[in-house]
Amino acid sequence: MKTKKIDTTLVNAGRSNRYTHGAVNSVIQRASSLIFNTLIDKKKATLGRTKGELFYGRRGTLTHFSLQEAMSELEGGAGCVLYPCGVAAIANAILSFIKAGDHVLMCNAAYGPTQDFCTKILGKFGVTITFYDHTISSEIGTLVRPETRVVFLESPASITMEVQDIPAIVTAVREKAPEVVIIMDNTWAAGILFNALSYDIDISIQAGTKYLIGHSDVMIGTAVANTRCWDQLRENSYMMGQTIDADSAYMASRGLRTLAIRLRQHEASALHVAEWLTTRPEVARVNHPALPQSKGHTFWKRDFSGSSGLFSFILHEKLSAKKMALYLDYFQYFSIAYSWGGYESLILATQPEEMVGSRPSGRMIDFKGTLVRLHIGLEHVEDLIADLTAGFERITQE
Ligand SMILES: *Cc1c(COP(=O)(O)O)cnc(C)c1O
Repeated sequence: MKTKKIDTTLVNAGRSNRYTHGAVNSVIQRASSLIFNTLIDKKKATLGRTKGELFYGRRGTLTHFSLQEAMSELEGGAGCVLYPCGVAAIANAILSFIKAGDHVLMCNAAYGPTQDFCTKILGKFGVTITFYDHTISSEIGTLVRPETRVVFLESPASITMEVQDIPAIVTAVREKAPEVVIIMDNTWAAGILFNALSYDIDISIQAGTKYLIGHSDVMIGTAVANTRCWDQLRENSYMMGQTIDADSAYMASRGLRTLAIRLRQHEASALHVAEWLTTRPEVARVNHPALPQSKGHTFWKRDFSGSSGLFSFILHEKLSAKKMALYLDYFQYFSIAYSWGGYESLILATQPEEMVGSRPSGRMIDFKGTLVRLHIGLEHVEDLIADLTAGFERITQE
């Protein structure tokens, strides 16, 4: 039989009768204690506790197993660990593989709190960190040391959206150190647009808070691991107490069913807005991986199957504090908020000097105007463009 398309996988994965009990969706099984009818049942559960036998709440219930099975199938892994949020997934995935004296290679354009975790937590335990430039290619091989244990990727770059040459990076790292654990924050691609494990990345992490949940009302992190890393990731995360409630797991499974179709609309509307922005006189540059002028576009085109709803653009002008408020405070549909991936549109703005200085990674930037980051939601795109047009009028008429 032909391999299934992703849309079909998203509808069906994790929905065997064991998990649904005859309903369409998985049961919500809330439990700490799980009861064994006999001593033999208890023994069987203990032996199978890492392989989907009901054992104790911290190991998960049917609701969790359903989601874990679906995520593993979606991303092509040996298993999936669930965490209370994306940051927990990142921190625990790294911690699961390092010890004192080890070295971590971290992308200098990774999500800010990921970088803070490296400097403020790992640093305390005698782990050294090298932040590599996010536009690096096979030269990353020169940064790999005998004690390098984890290489962490994030693409596109947080906020500035450059896409990395992942195959070149992975090949160069594996040539120097085949055993290194390569972890990627794959949130932008939502487990669909970039198939990390097929690029010889060991662990694909998502802040499921974003597109998996899709409605801005639950936090969850997922880490899908290949066969080589699955046992260690699962057991170490378990020892560090990483577990989530059944209701959050259920909400993520529910989100999965509509993920592909939501993502297609986010993609279409975001592209439309991004292309429109390139025609605006106020805009110096649009950072959207699917636009040919965007940095790393050729890598995106080669490696990704599409784009999501998050991108940024740079104004010619560096807005004064007064203008910044005039611009941001009066949008009708774009709310000012952190996070993204929900059905609604969001906006944030950053000054260039806030992009450097604030993190220890030494990331360089090449722009002077205010950077605006948009998440394009599921509103009609004409209403969003009218809203953005009014925003430009507020900062240009004076
Ligand atoms: C939001 C986000 C995270 C953190 O996820 P939380 O669920 O908020 O902890 C990590 N990486 C990326 C790329 C994100 O956008």
